[in-house]
Amino acid sequence: ELLSQANAIIVKVTLGMLIFYLVLFIFVWKLSYLISSPLNKLAQMASMLTRPNIDQDIKKIDPWYFEALRFRTSLLLSSKHFKDEIAELKQHVNTDPLTELYNRRGMKLFLNELKATNTPFSVLNIDIDHFKAINDSYGHDQGDHVLKKLASHMMNNFRKHDICCRVGGEEFTVFVVHEDPKVAYTAAERLREAVAQSYLDPVGHITVSIGIASWPRDAESVDDVIKLADQKLYEAKNDGRNCTRISSI
Ligand code: GH3
Ligand code: MG
Ligand code: MG
Repeated sequence: ELLSQANAIIVKVTLGMLIFYLVLFIFVWKLSYLISSPLNKLAQMASMLTRPNIDQDIKKIDPWYFEALRFRTSLLLSSKHFKDEIAELKQHVNTDPLTELYNRRGMKLFLNELKATNTPFSVLNIDIDHFKAINDSYGHDQGDHVLKKLASHMMNNFRKHDICCRVGGEEFTVFVVHEDPKVAYTAAERLREAVAQSYLDPVGHITVSIGIASWPRDAESVDDVIKLADQKLYEAKNDGRNCTRISSI
């Protein structure tokens, strides 16, 4: 009798302990999952900082305890820092460090955009007259100063959505966005006159020659339009410099 009672107690105690340990195990397992889950997700996000909407995804993670909240905040800060650095780098890659105008790479990006959106524009090829003589007489530093001065004239002369680029040593290109090439011609003449009138110490007065062609008016291919603008620039040089030549108005 005693033995069978003892056996029943042993079974009950064993079952009770089993259930207790099972519940304890489930509780510990659930708790550790709850603790590790936000850390796990944040760690995953940390390896995907280049993704475009990563900030939104990071904000969606619920940091229910202090350490996870700190981790999430640091990750958001790192992501912002990372994005700022990338944006700055992109800006550097697409701009000319001397004049801060777009370089050839930047120019290509905008050109693709204009083509893709079917936006009519004129290409202005601008070249400083007798620039070599300026370098020879006053030195390369003064030459660079002239380049910067011309760039600032360009920035003041053209509208915000026109694209000013430095494409070579003393060669500049502007894409003037418009329907009518007269707009580009007027803007080019305004720049040419402003440059001719301004006095630069110690170089004196400088002048520029400008060639203009328009897309899609003058040619279907953008490359052909750029070549045409080059021909017009050549014409302006042959016609005595300090003038603007346009393929059609
Ligand atoms: P033209 O009126 O026919 O245009 O004569 P030019 O002397 O301006 O023409 P050319 O193309 O022969 O000379 C361009 C000069 O630009 C040659 C080079 O010394 C100078 N140059 C090119 N890049 C730079 C630069 O980054 N800084 C400076 N200071 N000079 C440069
Ligand atoms: Mg030149
Ligand atoms: Mg020149």
